[in-house]
Amino acid sequence: MTESTLQLPGHPEVFVIGDMAYVEDGNGHPLPMLSTVALQQADSVAENIRRILASEVLRPFHYKDPGLLATVGRNAAVARIWGLSFSGFIAWLIWVFLHIYRLIGFRNRIVVLINWAWDYFFYDTQVRLITKE
Ligand SMILES: Cc1cc2nc3c(=O)[nH]c(=O)nc-3n(C[C@H](O)[C@H](O)[C@H](O)COP(=O)(O)OP(=O)(O)OC[C@H]3O[C@@H](n4cnc5c(N)ncnc54)[C@H](O)[C@@H]3O)c2cc1C
Repeated sequence: MTESTLQLPGHPEVFVIGDMAYVEDGNGHPLPMLSTVALQQADSVAENIRRILASEVLRPFHYKDPGLLATVGRNAAVARIWGLSFSGFIAWLIWVFLHIYRLIGFRNRIVVLINWAWDYFFYDTQVRLITKE
């Protein structure tokens, strides 16, 4: 559990973000272990470290829900974007292309796209947590 600034209680010199952090939303529900949460927390902590160096007051972290994207298997995903919900193959396609788009650098995008295409066509998946019965 962290303070609202993502500092460890009793250890203001330590920040906790991402999957390691237990942070509740405004309704008392824990924020999910998702990359969107981790990325926004990273931005918030970077800004607060800058504020510490400038002797400014720290800002609490507030999560802005950009929607939801998660794969749950081959050709299977769930997505909630701009208030619209998708599931199955369409959601999976959105997941694939949005994740590649969000990668930094053209080379990274091409490498990941080739890797994922290889895994997809040759069933070379390293780990599958959810399988058919
Ligand atoms: C199978 C799976 C599917 C997922 N799908 C989605 C999805 O579709 N959408 C979504 O938003 N989120 C998804 N997530 C969740 C998302 O991956 C995590 O929420 C996000 O990666 C958390 O970021 P993080 O920086 O906290 O941790 P990580 O991304 O796990 O980064 C932690 C890093 O620390 C390194 N590390 C660990 N121990 C040490 C050490 N002692 N010294 C140095 N380095 C160390 C690790 O190697 C790792 O690189 C998925 C997660 C899993 C496991």
